Amino acid sequence: MTNEELLEQLKSKINHNTWEQWFTSAQILDIQEKTVVIGIGNLFVKDFIARKYGSLVSNTLSDILSRKVTAEFTFIPADQSTKKKAGPLIKERPLKLSDFNPEYTFNSFVVGEANRVAYYSALEVANNPGKYNPLFIYGDVALGKTHLLHAIGNHLMENSPDLKVMYVTAEEFMNDLMKSLREEKMDDFRERYRKKIDILLIDDVQFLIGKDMAQGELFHTFNTLFNLGKQIIICSDRTPEELATFHPRLISRFEMGLVVNVDEPDKQTKLKIAKKMAEMSSLYLSDDVVSYLVENIDNNLRRLRGLILNLFFHSKVTGEKVNIETVRKLYSSLKNHKKKIPQTKETLRVLKKNLILEAVIKEYNLTREQLFSPTRKKEISEARQILSFMLKNYGKMKVKDISEFVGKNHSTISQSIKKIEKELTGGNLVLKRRIDDIRKVFEEAEKIQSQTAS
Ligand code: ADP
Ligand code: MG
Repeated sequence: MTNEELLEQLKSKINHNTWEQWFTSAQILDIQEKTVVIGIGNLFVKDFIARKYGSLVSNTLSDILSRKVTAEFTFIPADQSTKKKAGPLIKERPLKLSDFNPEYTFNSFVVGEANRVAYYSALEVANNPGKYNPLFIYGDVALGKTHLLHAIGNHLMENSPDLKVMYVTAEEFMNDLMKSLREEKMDDFRERYRKKIDILLIDDVQFLIGKDMAQGELFHTFNTLFNLGKQIIICSDRTPEELATFHPRLISRFEMGLVVNVDEPDKQTKLKIAKKMAEMSSLYLSDDVVSYLVENIDNNLRRLRGLILNLFFHSKVTGEKVNIETVRKLYSSLKNHKKKIPQTKETLRVLKKNLILEAVIKEYNLTREQLFSPTRKKEISEARQILSFMLKNYGKMKVKDISEFVGKNHSTISQSIKKIEKELTGGNLVLKRRIDDIRKVFEEAEKIQSQTAS
């Protein structure tokens, strides 16, 4: 079955309105044994479809193909999704190495005091690659670093179509490295990163903290490109100097170029950013809604963007205009949902773990330090064994997590737990009473906790 045939069949089995609303840009890109890769021409729609229709599409495809497959959705930027229709007249970029998010451009980046230097240095580098080399952009999360990297990429693709631009996160770089090592394809790897690139954009370089081998490889990649006059741009959540455990030779490479900061934008800039984000998703937001969003809800830009996307879908699905009331409702339902599920569970787990610990310490009349000390004194090691046993049976913790918490290795913890179990089944009444006492203490404490919490 060809990709087009499969798409036709899928279409015939999905509700017509749903298809028209969400799937018009869908293309089947690849039919594999266990996965079918579907390209969607809009990033938000892609995420939405994956969330809302992922299992429906997977099931329908499995029916059609008579084998179990999972649908995997991927974003195909506009130039690729329209390429097919536009025909051979459109000039293709033969050297394209990376896809850039078409929404992250210099145009859509709002410039304020806090990010002006970073913005203009990125623009300068995009216009004159090699002039300020390397460019190192640092700043906290969600302040627009990735946006700027993609803006450089988009700008170069448009204005210097012959340059080969590669964007990688440090994590992808490392994974690629590991895979190449495993498959003994290091020659290809080096060819890819050292010879086939004119401009290298590396995002979130702090990921390589503690990853010595990847740092070493990056160092050589850096030197090769640098010596050839190729532009390198690096983003990080901290300054070169603060990448403390990085190899000094790599830090000094980072410091030899332009080092610029993106800082938290002021309120006025944030308002403009929120407006821009809404505009990008064709959502009209009145001024009072925008300031309500920024002032009362969230000024983390990434979450703000998420909220705006949710508002966009909400208004698209319900046909309602967005006002402060809608924002408030949507936000509180998102927040409550979050609170109800993972947070409480996690908090309860942590609470319980600590209550059990406190109860054991009390029973044995020890301090935390004594309990966690490496000593093998009989009393103390028995307390540790009981703690492990109780965390497993009453705290419902995994041995792996207990081992982390208690600071002993996996097999020591397993043995401790088995030892206590054996004592109990062997009828050790003294031990049983002790455990019962500890249990009473922590269950009592737990009751008090839950009463004060609610
Ligand atoms: P970082 O990489 O620094 O963690 P991102 O580049 O992912 O942050 O930015 C988070 C979100 O905020 C993105 O959607 C980005 O487009 C947006 N954003 C951040 N700063 C700006 C800005 N100055 N103008 C427009 N959008 C911005
Ligand atoms: Mg980023």
